[in-house]
Amino acid sequence: MKIKHHDLTLKIEPELGKLKARDILEVSGDGELRFYLGNRFDIISIKQGKKSLDWEVEEEGKLTTRYMVKDRDRKMSPVEINWKGNLSSFQGYRVSIIREDLVELSGFCWWFPTIEPQSQFESFTYDLKVDIPENWTIVTPGESMGENSKYRYTRKIEDIFLCASPLLETYQKECCGVNLELHIPKDMIRFKEVLMDDFSSSIELCTKLFGPLKKGNGGIGIVSPRGKDGAEWGFERDGLWVVGDLFTKYLIDNDWEVMGLPKSLSLHETIHGWFGIGVDFKEPWLAEAITQYLEVILTTMMYDKADLDKKYFHSYRERVEKHLAEDDRPIKEYTFLDNMYTHWYLKGSWAFRDMEAAIGRDRLLELFSTIYSDHVGKTITYEQFKEIIERNLDIEPDFLTHWFERKGFTPIYWKPDNFR
Ligand SMILES: [Zn+2]
Repeated sequence: MKIKHHDLTLKIEPELGKLKARDILEVSGDGELRFYLGNRFDIISIKQGKKSLDWEVEEEGKLTTRYMVKDRDRKMSPVEINWKGNLSSFQGYRVSIIREDLVELSGFCWWFPTIEPQSQFESFTYDLKVDIPENWTIVTPGESMGENSKYRYTRKIEDIFLCASPLLETYQKECCGVNLELHIPKDMIRFKEVLMDDFSSSIELCTKLFGPLKKGNGGIGIVSPRGKDGAEWGFERDGLWVVGDLFTKYLIDNDWEVMGLPKSLSLHETIHGWFGIGVDFKEPWLAEAITQYLEVILTTMMYDKADLDKKYFHSYRERVEKHLAEDDRPIKEYTFLDNMYTHWYLKGSWAFRDMEAAIGRDRLLELFSTIYSDHVGKTITYEQFKEIIERNLDIEPDFLTHWFERKGFTPIYWKPDNFR
């Protein structure tokens, strides 16, 4: 049994923090129709045509409940599920905020009818219709088919992303053949130039190094007016990136520095337009390790500061070693459910820092450029990536295994004095 298509209609009532959804599921194959829904949602009804269907709770998990639909007619496809819930809090990168003046949803925080809540990576198509107050700016990936209606072919459930607010103002600029679209809160309008410059510098640098961005893979940026409700760094979803206004303001107030090191607001998420979205990696930790490495190198280029990369990687090393003293599982064993930042991003980026020490930065950047042009629009697995590295580079055969599949932190090639 597989859910092939979702025809999803959302009614959002920001002033109440409530969401109501109707999802019409096209199901293929035999077997019982099972689905997961977040614990903060209640099912109102399940129907097939005019007939009401019963359901049964099969398992109550920490975040989701598994349901089984009873007496479904397998020859008569679409099943309609109606549910509602309250979504007024923020949950990290699995965002979910409905506030009087802000709606921000991502994959409904694992609360979307699906068959595999641990991964949330199955593919399907969807139609999305959103009922939201008038005069709000609504940003979602995909092609618009009319007023507030979106359709696209999607890869992952997380891609069903939505940010809407009456506080957003939109700016556009053309850069390297990409139509940049930047949505920022109205109270940050005086920073629009500097924010747009940061965004376009990121796009320019990536284009120069890796080739042109494929249409639809990037170019939309949002500074969300989350305020303290969601005061954290951002994420990317299928062609767009989002960061909170608090972090953005912090960066501007501190002259674009965090902990004494220059940092771009948009660079990390922009790089994902090439690596993570452009070339999709089956293992998210690989996408983050590559992106974090590239973020440091490209930041060093962008700000033209000597030793910036050294300073960054040195600070990462300290943090990683501290973390490993508490939990030294290999990177590949960390999942979305863990506190994976130090492992995926920081230790992960060190794998490429170490590779750089073996082959030189220019060759490594060239290799990423080739990987991009060979695999843009495709998903590659860690095993395939390993094969590409082994085929192209003359380094320790166990190099990636060493960094991603084993414990500890011991660079093979990098020595403090052997690098520029
Ligand atoms: Zn990332």
